[in-house]
Amino acid sequence: MLPESITKVTDHLMKFPSMGRRSSQKIALQLLDQSDLEFQELLQDLVKMKQEVSFCGICGFFSQNNLSCSICSDRLRLNHQICVVEKPTEVIAMEKSLIYRGRYHVLGRLISPLDHIFAQNTNIPSLIDRIKSLDRVELVLFLQPSFNAEATTAYIREKILELDLGDKVNISKMAQGLPSFYNIDTLDIETLAKAMEGRIKV
Ligand SMILES: [Zn+2]
Repeated sequence: MLPESITKVTDHLMKFPSMGRRSSQKIALQLLDQSDLEFQELLQDLVKMKQEVSFCGICGFFSQNNLSCSICSDRLRLNHQICVVEKPTEVIAMEKSLIYRGRYHVLGRLISPLDHIFAQNTNIPSLIDRIKSLDRVELVLFLQPSFNAEATTAYIREKILELDLGDKVNISKMAQGLPSFYNIDTLDIETLAKAMEGRIKV
């Protein structure tokens, strides 16, 4: 019924998580409704985003033009507290809690022996380097509960002991108050704040 070009854009949008045909088509039609200027600006910004956004060389969060991210560049944040997450979007979720003033380390992937993903395929080696460069560290693990999260936690803990860094590193896990199965991206502020306050030693 609709012209092929609209259907094509709709199909592209439907590839994004939680985008159904109806909402994708709605956006496609809204794009069509934009002025030429608005649409050109959007196109330019999309290209720019793709070209300029990369991952921070220190923590793995999103950064612009290969510089350190806004969190690593913030001098007011606590250096010794590092919240470990799997994906960069989880940094955004954690930041919503407003009570965390430390830094982050994005692992990119979790250890998953069955999928042949080992520590060297994740950002754990750079986390260990960061730990080595600090006098004392509190690692706050914020990983969605899973077998891989357990394996990753166990590996980090063992590596720290193996390198004799145990005396200066405290590892805690955000758990208390969190439902047993949760999606980090959709946790509300209050639950996050409580889980941060009630974190437990691992
Ligand atoms: Zn960073």
